[in-house]
Amino acid sequence: MNWYQLDAETVEQKLHVTTGAGLKAKQVDKRRKEFGANKLLTEKEVSRWLIFLKQFQDFMVLVLLAATLIAGVLGEYVDAIAIMVIVLVNGFLGYFQEQKAEKSLAKLKEMSAPVASVMREGEWVKIPSGDVVVGDVVRINSGDRIPADLRLTKSNSMETEESALTGESLPVMKHASAIRKDGLDAQDQVNMGFMGTLVTRGSGVGIVVGTGMNTVMGQIASLMTGTTKTITPLERKLAELGKILIFAALILTALVVVVGVYQGHPIYNMFLAGVSLAVAAIPEGLPAIVTVALSLGVQRMIRKKAIVRKLSAVETLGCASVICSDKTGTLTENQMTVKELYVNGKHLYVTGNGYSVQGDYFLNDKKVDRDFPNLNSMLLYGMLCNNASLQLRKGKYNIDGDPTDGALLVAARKFGLSHVLHDQYKVVKEIPFDSTRKRMSMIIEDENKMRFLITKGAPEVLLPRSDFYLSEDGRKMMRTTDKQTVENAINGMAQNALRTIAIAMKPLPDDGDADAAVLENELTFVGLYGMMDPPRKEVKAAVNECREAGIKTVMITGDHEKTARAIAENLNILPAGGMVLNGYQLNQMSISDLREVIDDVSVFARVTPEHKLKIVKAYQENGHVAAMTGDGVNDAPAIKASDIGISMGRTGTDVTKEASSLILMDDNFTTIKDAIIEGRNIYENIRKFIRYLLASNVGEILVMLFAMLLALPLPLVPVQILWVNLVTDGLPAMALGLDQSEDDVMKRGPRNPREGIFSRGLGFKIVSRGILIGVITLASFMLTYQGTEESLVYGQTVAFTTLVMAQLIHVFDCRSEKSVFARNPFQNIYLVLAVLSSLILLLGVIYWEPLQPIFHTTFLGIRDWMLILVLSSLPTVLFGFTKK
Ligand code: ADP
Ligand code: MG
Repeated sequence: MNWYQLDAETVEQKLHVTTGAGLKAKQVDKRRKEFGANKLLTEKEVSRWLIFLKQFQDFMVLVLLAATLIAGVLGEYVDAIAIMVIVLVNGFLGYFQEQKAEKSLAKLKEMSAPVASVMREGEWVKIPSGDVVVGDVVRINSGDRIPADLRLTKSNSMETEESALTGESLPVMKHASAIRKDGLDAQDQVNMGFMGTLVTRGSGVGIVVGTGMNTVMGQIASLMTGTTKTITPLERKLAELGKILIFAALILTALVVVVGVYQGHPIYNMFLAGVSLAVAAIPEGLPAIVTVALSLGVQRMIRKKAIVRKLSAVETLGCASVICSDKTGTLTENQMTVKELYVNGKHLYVTGNGYSVQGDYFLNDKKVDRDFPNLNSMLLYGMLCNNASLQLRKGKYNIDGDPTDGALLVAARKFGLSHVLHDQYKVVKEIPFDSTRKRMSMIIEDENKMRFLITKGAPEVLLPRSDFYLSEDGRKMMRTTDKQTVENAINGMAQNALRTIAIAMKPLPDDGDADAAVLENELTFVGLYGMMDPPRKEVKAAVNECREAGIKTVMITGDHEKTARAIAENLNILPAGGMVLNGYQLNQMSISDLREVIDDVSVFARVTPEHKLKIVKAYQENGHVAAMTGDGVNDAPAIKASDIGISMGRTGTDVTKEASSLILMDDNFTTIKDAIIEGRNIYENIRKFIRYLLASNVGEILVMLFAMLLALPLPLVPVQILWVNLVTDGLPAMALGLDQSEDDVMKRGPRNPREGIFSRGLGFKIVSRGILIGVITLASFMLTYQGTEESLVYGQTVAFTTLVMAQLIHVFDCRSEKSVFARNPFQNIYLVLAVLSSLILLLGVIYWEPLQPIFHTTFLGIRDWMLILVLSSLPTVLFGFTKK
């Protein structure tokens, strides 16, 4: 027997579970042990050895190793071993960096892993999809990716898209009854939900019958290959730049070698020096440090509740010039409270806050009677045409489900209606809510077997469908003037920033076939609900901060234009004279029409998710880098098309999460702003260490080149060059990647996405500092080297120390675009520690006797240090005054 052939009860019995209560914790544990995690095993782990060995695959490193081997054979044991050790340490460092990057990426993947809504111990809980076990009762909604193979026990107009399994992209309508036929393919098992497929419409409940590799998807997955790692644009740019830099470094070192040999240096010595120089000057570690910086930034973002799904988003975030944000839930709390009711042509006011059930109904300051006409029916309809439930947890009421629906339950409770008796009213059929239809309906059968339709939704959608209305004296024909009266009521509520919902019904004839009711027409209008969804407190400040940073905030909502306008004004999103466009107007406009006005528009109201794509495109064609938020299935195309797609961690569907590059754990607009700050900062930090590394390398090459041109001996020996490369390029560069942002990151405009790495004066900074570092190092050598064999080690020690000190001072310069004096040097504690540890290592190499022969160093006195400090601070201090 196959699962699809069994009826739901048999499935429950076989798996020892009831749909009403779900599994018990003990059962879950046992099954978890027995079947393992609900995961597809497709990815192979890269072996640690391979990562380690990869660090040595670089061509110049291999040449260096070969050269040292020769040195060893020729009897230069000390040099050979020293170089070997340094290369090995360097390899370890690269290995750890890569490991760290991999680890944080893996952690990221885990955090953005999908969750499933399951019934356990009688309660609905959200768990990571990987923890689902056989027998779990799972609830799925439109937009969800099905977490495991399910035998459906309930389907509300549920449709799924199973192209991942069957290649068929047309949605499949699902039901929940057993199918007797034998030997059906997956695509014909329409009472099953399959792992990895998407729910495109409706909702359902099912019992898990297969997890992990024991699913239909699992059988296919074993054929799939692992995922490929994507490179971000910046990493690509840097890889290209790296090639140019390698080329330049090779030419320059070749020049050093040629000039040196021409000046009479022994070929072998020059060769080893040249190769060491090449190894030091080639920024082979750059892409790895960039990845580390990106992933460290990503971790900081996680602490601020933003999960980056694509590393490339980190870069793009810094370029964002417009944020298109959903209103409900992102700019507002998504905590709805009914404040006003319109029934029988009268406005009633409701007291109370949030989801608390304390509150009363008032008409003109007088408490409303229990028998106020039609009020009871209206509230009852609101409770019936509803998918939320009200729960008391720790003395506080909470909503499980849609907050809009929840608000209606609270409103009913305030009037004394509490439980909808399920044996009294039966749901015959549900037509689910979606943001495009802007309405939902339920067909209900009461205890006398009388059926009726309840429809609730946006008033402008319901009003044209209503031919009647409910008055104190019963049902009446809706005339144009009556419609006008209701419209006035809607406008009045919307102007007060209330979200409006209309409710209507239609009695169905006894023999009425339910399908006709699906038309949702000839309705009887019952009343209006006006609900408050307070703006999030911190958003106004965030919007202002974005404006200062050259980023425009745009509100997008399905709500009424007037509601949207009122909230936008409150949040300072809509400036005086700013434009509001509605969905109807958007329909009339082509993208090029929209482009003309869109820079003046701050609010889009009564739009459907489909409009979002048009909005994104218009912004992009106007040269903007657009961020777009969304939560529902229909938002996915716009999210994908935007430069930074943002989805909601709490209310978002799997489809939008998968399409997005950023997930907001708290659904909060402020988090977008924080992510942008972080995105800008990470990019600036990457610029900082590129600047630092390249200026250092320029200095190292130039000091050698100048010395050769002046027919001097080598100012630095190969081990010293390699030491500089290891010590100063290692930790201090990493610490720059962790630097705080400059105070004015959010006072500048967004970065132009097309700008090169060296723009905004970075190229000049690198070259100017690099040349000066080369010059002062050479000067220190010439001032101390007297032409004797003895003074050579002395001169080299001074030159080496000057070069290291110049770099360790210069690293502070790299923290600011303006001047080294613009920032407190002790602010970045990592940098201070990194510099201190480099200093200690430097002192060790100079003063610890056993190391002296290895590093060709000698003791230095106070006067030497004075010379060194003056010279080494020149490149930084001089340019600190020019501010260039
Ligand atoms: P937004 O997410 O921008 O608030 P929605 O698409 O959710 O917009 O809602 C648009 C309109 O649909 C609302 O103004 C309201 O009138 C109506 N609506 C929202 N939620 C529900 C619901 N659960 N049932 C019926 N109507 C709803
Ligand atoms: Mg909504």
